[in-house]
Amino acid sequence: MATRRTFDRAVVTGGAGFLGSHLCRALAASGTEVICVDSFLTSPKDLDGGGLDDPNVVVVRRDVSEPFPIPGPVDLVLHFASPASPADYQRYPIDTMRAGSLGTLHALDLARDKGARFVLASTSEVYGDPLVHPQPEDYWGNVNPVGPRAVYDEAKRFAEALTTAYRTRHGADTAIARIFNTYGPGMRADDGRAVPTFIAQALAAEPLTVTGDGRQTRSICYVSDTVAGILALAASGVPGPVNIGNPEEMSIRALASRIAGLVAELTGVEAQPLRFVDRPVDDPGVRRPDISRAAAELGWQPRVGWRDGLARTVAWFTEHRARLTDAVGAG
Ligand code: UDP
Repeated sequence: MATRRTFDRAVVTGGAGFLGSHLCRALAASGTEVICVDSFLTSPKDLDGGGLDDPNVVVVRRDVSEPFPIPGPVDLVLHFASPASPADYQRYPIDTMRAGSLGTLHALDLARDKGARFVLASTSEVYGDPLVHPQPEDYWGNVNPVGPRAVYDEAKRFAEALTTAYRTRHGADTAIARIFNTYGPGMRADDGRAVPTFIAQALAAEPLTVTGDGRQTRSICYVSDTVAGILALAASGVPGPVNIGNPEEMSIRALASRIAGLVAELTGVEAQPLRFVDRPVDDPGVRRPDISRAAAELGWQPRVGWRDGLARTVAWFTEHRARLTDAVGAG
């Protein structure tokens, strides 16, 4: 099992985003002083739900594709800055490539200069539309380099290569987390992803927009599990890449039906029908992590099942209705 350590002062790029804000809050709760660096291109502008009003978290508004010197000691850098939903990264294709390339370079320089542990937020998208299922870390992937998802997929693949080069060339203490679909409180209702879109639609008594025939699969992980996995990786000496996700796979059609049923059960809003709309180009047909490496090297595995996690997420969206006002669907 890997050695464990604690951190005094962490920099979290993208720290106001969905995953980043949960990470800032978890680190601050364990006594780490946190510097959140975020451009607010796609992070919620109000920070609501991010817990960033914590006195242990300082928010710095910066774009990491420009150098961002941080005075003083730093012993952990979590590089999470990037648009992350397919709708967001296709809306901001160049910013996405800048965050993955120049942003990663600057975050790695910071970690190297400070002698800090570095964790890259990589993604299941490095596997593209996978030909191996479930996906182990030694699968190289099936990515279209000129398709609509390329700006995200290839930026993250570049970021992984750069992170590996800093480890081998500079002896930097790096780790790569390949994060699979994560959901929970703090997501933007309008980020275009399946879970918040379906919840927003169900709460608004609108049909749920399922793409294609809905038989494509995803494996969804509740945010507290993903955060625990990333922090376990940070605290270890493991270089990765390590898949972090929940292997509980389901079709998107099943996901939509489950959300419609849960929203009806929890709120009394009548269950809404599914509306089938066009499938996006290069949308992966299947996705499920093989998490045996995370289990063996980090002693980590997810604990929250879909019913419990989705119920908590629906409850959060119900409380934060302001986030639903500009919800958008896939169709
Ligand atoms: N999807 C859908 N309806 C929506 C949004 C997404 O059916 O309103 C589908 C999407 O085409 C994909 C799956 O749900 O097959 C997961 O999409 P998401 O955007 O959540 O993330 P991805 O896993 O593709 O990055």
